[in-house]
Amino acid sequence: MEDKFARVVVDLANPGIGNKFFHYRISGQQLDLIQEGARVLVPFGGRKLSGFVTGFDSSPEIEEEKIRDIINVIDPFPLLTKELIELAGWISQLYLCPLSEVLKTIVPGFYAKVKAKEITLVRIKQFGEKTLTYIQEYEKRAPKQAQVLNLIMSQGEMPLKDLLEAAETSHQTVNALEKKGLVEFYKKRIIRDPFQKKLFGLSAKLKLNIQQSQALETIKSHLYKKESDTILLHGVTGSGKTEVYLQAIEEVIKEGREALVLVPEISLTPQMVSWFRARFGSLVTVLHSKLSAGERYDQWCRILEGEIKIAVGPRSAIFAPFTNLGIIIIDEEHESTYKQEESPRYDARKVAERRSWINKCPLILGSATPSVDSYYQAASGFNVLVKIDSRVEERPLPPVNVVDLKKEIKKGNKNFLSSELYREIESSLEKKQQVILFINRRGFASFVVCKECGFVQRCPNCSITLTYHSSGDQLKCHYCHYERKVPKLCPDCQGYYIRFLGLGTQRVEREVKEKFPFARILRMDRDSTSRRHSHQEIFKSFKQGKADILIGTQMVAKGLDFPRVTLVGVIAADTALNLPDFRAGERTFQLLTQVAGRTGRSSLGGKVLIQTYCPDHYSILTAMNHDYQEFYEKEMNLRKEFGYPPYSCMLRVVFSGSDEKDLSNIAGLFKETLDSLLESDKGDILGPGPCPLSKIKGRYRWHLVLKSSDLEIISQVGQKAFEDIYSTAKGKNIRIALDVNPLNML
Ligand code: ADP
Ligand code: ZN
Repeated sequence: MEDKFARVVVDLANPGIGNKFFHYRISGQQLDLIQEGARVLVPFGGRKLSGFVTGFDSSPEIEEEKIRDIINVIDPFPLLTKELIELAGWISQLYLCPLSEVLKTIVPGFYAKVKAKEITLVRIKQFGEKTLTYIQEYEKRAPKQAQVLNLIMSQGEMPLKDLLEAAETSHQTVNALEKKGLVEFYKKRIIRDPFQKKLFGLSAKLKLNIQQSQALETIKSHLYKKESDTILLHGVTGSGKTEVYLQAIEEVIKEGREALVLVPEISLTPQMVSWFRARFGSLVTVLHSKLSAGERYDQWCRILEGEIKIAVGPRSAIFAPFTNLGIIIIDEEHESTYKQEESPRYDARKVAERRSWINKCPLILGSATPSVDSYYQAASGFNVLVKIDSRVEERPLPPVNVVDLKKEIKKGNKNFLSSELYREIESSLEKKQQVILFINRRGFASFVVCKECGFVQRCPNCSITLTYHSSGDQLKCHYCHYERKVPKLCPDCQGYYIRFLGLGTQRVEREVKEKFPFARILRMDRDSTSRRHSHQEIFKSFKQGKADILIGTQMVAKGLDFPRVTLVGVIAADTALNLPDFRAGERTFQLLTQVAGRTGRSSLGGKVLIQTYCPDHYSILTAMNHDYQEFYEKEMNLRKEFGYPPYSCMLRVVFSGSDEKDLSNIAGLFKETLDSLLESDKGDILGPGPCPLSKIKGRYRWHLVLKSSDLEIISQVGQKAFEDIYSTAKGKNIRIALDVNPLNML
């Protein structure tokens, strides 16, 4: 029997979760147009909605009479490949989100009425005597028509718009010629190009050093095996990982296959894109959210048509519609931007793993500070580990010194610039070199630190730092909701100099300005970079030496190359260290190592100063010694003790609503439901209680966390509980968000 019914995943406003499709009939003349992956327009209630065809059936789910026809197919070819449809189904199942939402994320502009762009061209219908005779004849009677004919003759063909401009005439003139059968119109698709003819020059291949060559050889051997291996490339900052990627890709292209490269955030990695363009020219495209819908659509089509072989982009680029992938590279794999914070809450690293498995191609994870999860995979033999432990040209890693802020307090210095950091800044400025001052943006969560002994109050159950709440003068754990009153005296040293920490870039800027009135200062944070290109502008002017000091948040820690920076100062490592998040120690190590990597990148050398109240914390000590291995072991001990990933999987459920009482009821109900579904020894539930960010845009936020060693169990009970509670919650205007293996716990 013929498959007459198409499954269409329709773009609904409230899709619930799971794979929901509707059957539509395919009428005769559409049969060959309607393929798997095609975008179609369908009637839905009284409206017309767009959707994707994800498969076919010979008999429908409901009575045949009720089935309606597909109205039409939107694009000249299917926008989704078979692989992407399969991948979408997998994501929707793993991350507990509606398939339509996944499809919308995969294909740019599902909603938008974006289509291929076409222009009209005019060409001569018949060359030869006839046309020439006409030109002579018309010269006097209709000079415009003759001029138009002449113009087209000289070019062979012309875009209608250009022709009308050149001849300074109207459409009618050309229409008249068309009626006489002298010229004809035709349409041609054009490409909206994000590079707009920007030139990148050419960059020659560099001669690899020994460690780089070894890394490349390992990658190559996995390329030829055509197996889905994951290789963790652990190379210190400045070890030349990019050059290894470039040469591996060259090999892939030679083999006639394609390459996908993910970077954490495209606006922070302009250098990366230009290196790729300079090496591979027009075989490369970028895919990111700042492209116009039309540009993205066109790049998408060019990949489908095989014109583009390499795509570079942020996490969403993992969906580039290649059909013959030979390698996937994820640079700075430890970055949390690879996880999407809104639905679908997918992790591009996991999706990449899946694509590498489908395509039988290697996945390369590159980082100077691998995530604990990835390193664990490699250390336990599931993945391959390749190391580069020196910088190119044997440049030394910068010396890192730690300033103990407790001693500053004893000296009576209450500013946040220690005397040591002050002297170092002064000395760099005197030598006309540059300085980066780094501060952690997320200083919102106040915590209590003893400024005499550095003691920080942690939760006895969860080991995360307790957060200060001024109402009731309480310290609270945001995982298990343990709480206690703020102690009057330090529980450890009986000192009474207990303070709340929290610091903004603007305050730092003010103080630095006061201390160094002649220095030129640039500030970079979310406020100063809201305009479209302002990152690049700030980076560019800093690189050109138009400022002496750059003060910034996380953004300045990314993979940038500033040869004249010889001092990096970390104002207070404690704000990162004491975030109420079990990954705080890991994030701090990564941040410190990455900011340290911004200096000492030229023969001028470089130095790093970290200010902190906890100079003995393992994250700080190991960052100081550039000792990843030691950090990893310490961190893993804690993870094991408290049962955190990679020793468990997690589901975080976030509830939000405007009535806190309703919210706590629903969250409680959800917990009870989970409890009843969960066999006793199969998982743990933490909470519910308020999130660290307890209110956003007027909506209260509560959360709970389900921990289990079995991802399948988490998905099953999570989905079941969601379906049970969903409509009750909706009735009370409460939103429930499910986050599988969350990276953000705030
Ligand atoms: P990473 O990403 O590992 O931190 P990069 O890829 O940014 O390091 O490389 C740091 C610098 O070293 C870049 O300017 C790059 O052009 C240069 N470089 C890389 N490989 C070599 C090489 N084999 N010889 C000389 N310079 C190199
Ligand atoms: Zn706790």
